[in-house]
Amino acid sequence: MSCKPRRLVILGATGSIGGSTLAVARLHPERYQIWALTARRQVEKLAALCREFRPCYAALADAEDAAELAAKLRASQIKTEVLYGADAFCQLAAASEADTVMAAIVGAAGLAPALAAARAGKRLLLANKEALVMAGGLFMRAVRDNKTTLLPIDSEHNAIFQSLPRDFAPLGDAKAWARSGVRQLWLTASGGPFLRFSARELENVTPEAAISHPNWSMGAKISVDSASLMNKGLEVIEAHWLFAAPPDCLRVAVHPQSIVHSLVEYQDGSFLAQLGAPDMRVPIAHALAYPERFSSGARTLDLFARTRLDFMPPDTERFPCLRLAYDALKTGGSAPATLNAANEIAVDAFLRRRLSFPGIAHLVEEVLAAMPAVSADTLESVEEADRAARETAHSLLSCSAVL
Ligand code: NDP
Ligand code: MG
Repeated sequence: MSCKPRRLVILGATGSIGGSTLAVARLHPERYQIWALTARRQVEKLAALCREFRPCYAALADAEDAAELAAKLRASQIKTEVLYGADAFCQLAAASEADTVMAAIVGAAGLAPALAAARAGKRLLLANKEALVMAGGLFMRAVRDNKTTLLPIDSEHNAIFQSLPRDFAPLGDAKAWARSGVRQLWLTASGGPFLRFSARELENVTPEAAISHPNWSMGAKISVDSASLMNKGLEVIEAHWLFAAPPDCLRVAVHPQSIVHSLVEYQDGSFLAQLGAPDMRVPIAHALAYPERFSSGARTLDLFARTRLDFMPPDTERFPCLRLAYDALKTGGSAPATLNAANEIAVDAFLRRRLSFPGIAHLVEEVLAAMPAVSADTLESVEEADRAARETAHSLLSCSAVL
């Protein structure tokens, strides 16, 4: 093991993945120094983290919150320098003093800083799946061109990464896929809290019910995505880019126990899988220690407590978001960025009780139908597709066409 601690930047430190990353880092102070922490606007929570970890830098989205954080830190005699704004997130992600970046901002806001880390050749732990959904081609090119070590944090992709041949490299390369002997990838899905709800019951579900996930504890947006199966759709697109898997080789199996985190099916009929308790500290510890292993702090899986592991096909009639994501992947160009942006607006409207749960899929479908896919191979064109999709989604919402 190397003696020099790695310097870690955590983008989205106040969130669910950020918290789990800090929980693992706390167990291994000799391996990781927390060099920078970022959040959007949770000043008090970020101040507490700065008091504990004493990072060199902390950043928030806007100037007012940053001034409040700086004042709190001064009062506690903490020397952390406070920055603000989207550019600051990118600067910290690419800073030469840091070597490892956890990209755990939620949503499209996470794309630019994650891409900055990829372009700077960092060891990049990627939780922000939206970056790959929006700009997968561009992102993976940056990873390859800069010899970035990309480690997937999403539990399914981390499980697949662990189950692929050790020499599967570089990530995102069609040649690596072709020589791997893999037939297809199976992404498992818990099915979320509404797995057994009828179409009629889905009409009346509340945000509170949607965010109380049966197996995983996560941020609000991904919890709603999980309930609608959009999360699995985004993950299909994410897997396509990470592993260069053709869309027809990406399969989804509903597995309500969330013990088998995903599987790789080989051409000889073997299935390799990664199993574990549903706890994000496991894939985070895997990526932090990679290629070594160290403890994650998660409880171990009690095999004798398991009575069964079930697998079933997803129902895209009741959960059409999964089908919409496959369609967007096959369409290509700006379609996945449009899907992602429309979904972010739809989830936000659902959480604010302005849209019903089935309305999420309706809104996404309407936005996709209104916006023919165009080429999106630069950050600017992806951001333009994202902006235009948000505008269309807002105007459809305001005329109540999709409620
Ligand atoms: P949370 O909502 O819990 O946390 C999001 C973090 O991002 C917070 O630190 C938040 O700051 C910050 N943030 C939000 N919006 C912005 C913005 N516009 N600019 C800068 N920072 C922002 O999300 P999760 O931790 O659940 O998810 C993070 C990412 O990881 C998502 O992409 C998700 O899909 C992915 N992921 C999460 C999993 C999980 O188990 N939670 C599992 C697999 C993937 P603040 O607190 O100040 O608002
Ligand atoms: Mg996942």
